[in-house]
Amino acid sequence: MEEAGEGEEYLFKIVVIGDSAVGKSNLLSRFARDEFDQNSKATIGVEFQTQVVQVDGKEVKAQVWDTAGQERFRAVTSAYYRGAVGALLVYDITRRPTFDSIKRWLDELNTHCDTTVARMLVGNKCDLEDIRDVSVEEGKNLAEEEGLFFIETSALDATNVNTAFENVIRAIYNNIS
Ligand code: GDP
Ligand code: MG
Repeated sequence: MEEAGEGEEYLFKIVVIGDSAVGKSNLLSRFARDEFDQNSKATIGVEFQTQVVQVDGKEVKAQVWDTAGQERFRAVTSAYYRGAVGALLVYDITRRPTFDSIKRWLDELNTHCDTTVARMLVGNKCDLEDIRDVSVEEGKNLAEEEGLFFIETSALDATNVNTAFENVIRAIYNNIS
């Protein structure tokens, strides 16, 4: 986390974690470029993308990190987490095993980052209501138990994607100001 003197500029590192194919890369591309990739490749070669948002009239640079597919092998490195002040823990509402994995991702986050990291539980693919496998209530309950914010999103139709990132950014901002 950085605070530049001139013009009050902030840089927040935010990591996106969760099982393979839950939609992490598409959430990021929706947020950073308003794009969705139906046949998204497992790897997108970019470590992070930066998006500028305004919070209380201040300019905040959100540096959002995406895995390059290493979550498939549960091999996300400590470098990925280093310096993070926010995290999106993503599961796929149509695949219960990805929801069951959240506790493991939380453990991993906790081993690498301190507890002040702003955490948002994200149930992605809410456009697929007809094949839902995890209820909204279950998501809410887990978030409550673990002290996380909670939201359901769709990277496909853009539902709540900006809100998810903006809420994390605001929470980080409130932590430091
Ligand atoms: P990652 O492995 O977590 O980075 O997941 P990706 O972003 O690569 O997405 C995995 C697959 O899910 C791709 O086929 C995407 O097109 C699809 N996907 C991602 N987000 C959504 C969503 O919100 N709704 C639907 N229906 N499909 C999605
Ligand atoms: Mg990805």
